Amino acid sequence: MTIKDIMKYIESEFSVINDTPCEICGGDYIAEDLKINVVDGVPYDICDCICSNCGYEKTFEFCAPFIDENSLKKAKNILN
Ligand SMILES: [Zn+2]
Repeated sequence: MTIKDIMKYIESEFSVINDTPCEICGGDYIAEDLKINVVDGVPYDICDCICSNCGYEKTFEFCAPFIDENSLKKAKNILN
């Protein structure tokens, strides 16, 4: 898994988030933070999002068994 692959994966997560309307007002979610949580030995990509319209907070979870913390950090640095 290269950084490029991970970035592609993160971008596809962002497109899922962009395609999901706010469940309160139908507005767009903005990704605030991206982190890895390990549940039962499987890393999950946890993305905290906030509605740009009403401020409603929603957490998206993506199963990311191939991502480790270091690779995610590198990918995030490139994205920033
Ligand atoms: Zn909203």
